[in-house]
Amino acid sequence: MNTILLVEDDAALREGLTELFERDGYEVIAAGSLREARERLSDAVQAIVMDVGLPDGDGVSQCREWRAAGETRPVLFLTARGEEFDVVRGLDSGGNDYVTKPFRMQELLSRVRVLLRGSTRSAQTTSRSGFVVNHERMQVVKDGEVLPLTLTEYKIVTMLMDHPAVVPRERLLEVLWDEGGKFIDDNTLSVHMSRLREKVGAEHISTIRGVGYQWLDTSSAESSC
Ligand code: CA
Repeated sequence: MNTILLVEDDAALREGLTELFERDGYEVIAAGSLREARERLSDAVQAIVMDVGLPDGDGVSQCREWRAAGETRPVLFLTARGEEFDVVRGLDSGGNDYVTKPFRMQELLSRVRVLLRGSTRSAQTTSRSGFVVNHERMQVVKDGEVLPLTLTEYKIVTMLMDHPAVVPRERLLEVLWDEGGKFIDDNTLSVHMSRLREKVGAEHISTIRGVGYQWLDTSSAESSC
């Protein structure tokens, strides 16, 4: 079972999130302050979901301290709209992702799933239809050649490979960030998709008009007549 350390000083939000995470099958260790977070960060924890504004300090500084001490588990920040949160500083501190309150629970769950998948597979490679994905190096290799993918293209292609069904555009937009940490808009996504097609082969990515994209294993070279 996946265990999350949830650090949030708003008791109502903390309890609500705990319940929702538990309903989704997670084990939750809750903390209301940085001191409690440090005390409760046990080996069982696989990911940390942490508010930025906490009574005894800020989550970003705590994350930086953890990283400096060799902590590698993924950290997702919860930030409040209007609260001073510098995305670059947040990600510089070693944070992996963030969501801004108020957020949709589905969005938070999907982000956490992505982080957990990345961390549990971090040292592994997977392969799919002639492509080898190195999750640690964030590289996709085809015929022995590392494809020159941007981080965004890497995220898109691995998400498509991981989902056997169509991935809706909104899902991609929800979880993708460009390198500067901003949301990707719809037009930018289309540009990324067309560049990605050129790099991996257009036959592998099918557009379902008005819905999204789907990874296709069978290339024309593989199909027999
Ligand atoms: Ca707070």
